[in-house]
Amino acid sequence: MATFKNLVLLGIVCSFFVVTSAITDEEAMEVMTFLTSFGYLNFNNIMGPSEIKSSKAVERAVTNFQKFYNITVTGKMDSKTLEAMKKPRCGVPDPTMPNENGTALGGRLAKRYALTGGRWESSTVTYRILNYPRNAATRERISDSEVNAIIHRAFKMWSDYIPLTFQETTGYADIYLSFVSYYHGDYRPFDGTGNAIAHAYFPGTFLDGDIHFDDSERFTQNTQNFNLLHIAAHEIGHSLGLLHTNVYGALMYPVFTGYQPSLLLHSDDIRGIQAVYGSRTNPNPGGPRPTYTSSDVEGCNKIFTAVGYLRGEIFAFQKGRYWRIQRPGVLVTDIDGDLNTHFWYGLPDDVDAGYERWLDSTIIFFKGENYYLFNGNHLMQGPLPISEFTVPSSNESLPNNIDTVLTFGEYYKTYFFKDDLVWRYDEKKRQIDPGYPRPISEVFKGIPSDLSAAFRYKDGHTYFLKGKEYYRYNNLRQEADKAGFPRLFGVDFLACNTAEYRENTAENTGTAAVTILMIRL
Ligand code: ZN
Repeated sequence: MATFKNLVLLGIVCSFFVVTSAITDEEAMEVMTFLTSFGYLNFNNIMGPSEIKSSKAVERAVTNFQKFYNITVTGKMDSKTLEAMKKPRCGVPDPTMPNENGTALGGRLAKRYALTGGRWESSTVTYRILNYPRNAATRERISDSEVNAIIHRAFKMWSDYIPLTFQETTGYADIYLSFVSYYHGDYRPFDGTGNAIAHAYFPGTFLDGDIHFDDSERFTQNTQNFNLLHIAAHEIGHSLGLLHTNVYGALMYPVFTGYQPSLLLHSDDIRGIQAVYGSRTNPNPGGPRPTYTSSDVEGCNKIFTAVGYLRGEIFAFQKGRYWRIQRPGVLVTDIDGDLNTHFWYGLPDDVDAGYERWLDSTIIFFKGENYYLFNGNHLMQGPLPISEFTVPSSNESLPNNIDTVLTFGEYYKTYFFKDDLVWRYDEKKRQIDPGYPRPISEVFKGIPSDLSAAFRYKDGHTYFLKGKEYYRYNNLRQEADKAGFPRLFGVDFLACNTAEYRENTAENTGTAAVTILMIRL
């Protein structure tokens, strides 16, 4: 990237000419990567360097970035902006909201901490350190037992101020910490040395509080760059439910600033975490609402007729449109979705349900009395009558107008839901298993009837939607997680405005059918 000095020289040399672009094409692409990686710009804004330099959406995103980072707001990719983007930082996106133009609304934030809306409900939270740094430069500086002590101290920095106790364990844990590099299975690959140093997952969402440190980095203790205590304490802040703050100097500021010999929480961090949990003397059992807002309540209030998981992304369907969710809270499409006709060729509007058949990867959609067979995103066959979905000799056939479908294809079993009943279908025999249909409450403990949609996600959970809410089902324990559920789908998956979104229940009482589409990676 251009240094400030270069730009000054350029300014002098060109002072008699019109300077149209101060940055190189390569720098423009780097800006683009930064803005999309950290929540300032949507992924559907794919542009070339010259478009990036002239794009209004990029200008707005740059403006929001400058506001969040407290640099002079110019909307231009100037030297200060480019330098700020190169600073080593946390890999978690900043609390911004996509709007209809795919740009972020970071400028709407007050100057203070921000909350995800998620939190731990039990007063004891366990953590487990899954592995230790393999990076030789880190190992020279920090032993494994020192890693243990640093992580312990980082947790204590927070528990000093809130009524939570953190307990290390070697078994099942609420929060798993690991040192990993590049692609490590969560669709947020690390980038080698520099840039993203670590990231963490918010409570109540996916990978629930887990923390990943980029093992390509050299971690240190008692010095800067990259001080493991500082970074661990910051990531734990995310694990507890804090987003990034725009208060410079706070622990939850996204950029890892200078080393402080006796690291303490900033008053902004304390206010933020106590807004979630209360203090040790005055606990807050109810929990707060998220502090960020979206102007697009309408986009959030969609009830989806089908939700599925395709090549690592979630697809939600409603009335001829689909929403593509890269990961919870990050939309690839606009908040208003995209037309089915742009991607799902031949798909009817308002499908009830869909899933990917494990045996042959065919994607099957259901609507009313019919089903449709898709090869990828192209219609192969259909409409075909649902009555013919099972083999002709079957005693029991599937009902029409199903609510949703959920496949456990690796076991050749697929579950169809309608009202309060569930049918288990054998994919090999192509018939309903004996004894079915059964009440949903017997088969999926803790899951309600009249479902809208359901899908299995890569975190080992199955998600059941009912109207605007979702329930999380633990596949291993075979029961729904109780604490904190149901939660709002729009909040966790579309990053919707909680205050207005929660209050708008008009569309939540409808009988809109929602379906699960589980598609193999
Ligand atoms: Zn962070």
